[in-house]
Amino acid sequence: MGIAFFLFRVFENWFASNFDRPLFRHYFVYRKLPPSQLKILQNEFVFYRMLSEKNKKQFVHRMAQFLSEKKIIGREEVIITEKMKVLVAAIACMLSFGRRNYTYNLVDFILIYPEEFYSAINDAYHKGEFNPREKVIVLSWKDFEKGYKIENDNLNIGIHEFTHAMQLEAKQARDLDSARFSKHFQAILKQLMRQDVKDQLDKTRYFREYAFANQYEFMAVLTEYFFESPEDFKRIFPKIYEHTKKLLNFNFADY
Ligand SMILES: [Zn+2]
Repeated sequence: MGIAFFLFRVFENWFASNFDRPLFRHYFVYRKLPPSQLKILQNEFVFYRMLSEKNKKQFVHRMAQFLSEKKIIGREEVIITEKMKVLVAAIACMLSFGRRNYTYNLVDFILIYPEEFYSAINDAYHKGEFNPREKVIVLSWKDFEKGYKIENDNLNIGIHEFTHAMQLEAKQARDLDSARFSKHFQAILKQLMRQDVKDQLDKTRYFREYAFANQYEFMAVLTEYFFESPEDFKRIFPKIYEHTKKLLNFNFADY
């Protein structure tokens, strides 16, 4: 038994490094969402409607798992609704859908404020924040809603903050998903050193200024663009797009 398992792990690692994707990413266990939540998902979340039947089942399972593991808490006058739960879980599970490890080990709590909130970290108002020490993601609901409703403005605070949590996990963990994340992130940074890419960045001003604050913001902004305007992204920066896709192992819908 021990040896068989060991050999399986060896094969799995060999497969992942040769084919640049995991051997499998989902076991055949399917949890369900209550009908009220499933209805919200179907009505509100375009990505879900674009999935195959099999992937829909996986997606629902992952959301149910996510919601059973994380605590979503309202701040100020916010009372957490079914819709808030569904949409937060859906955004998180969409971003991690290509991964086997999809539940964000560095996040236990999601706090929701009605709008921009005061943050003591840098004495300013924020739309979102990831605090790894408290294992918490904080979101302004007003901005979260705008993020997923307006689908082509390249702003999506939910995707942005969950990417921060994923990237920090990739730095600390050694699983296959984290290894893939780190490998393709390095490749993206290498792209940024190329003169032709720098020229293209200057010429197009495609990515918003904030992306260049540091490498973590760059990655978080990249994923926002990846989900919000994949066609433009692919056309303007094909190599960076390809690495972002591989980093997320994202082969769903039309991405
Ligand atoms: Zn950020």
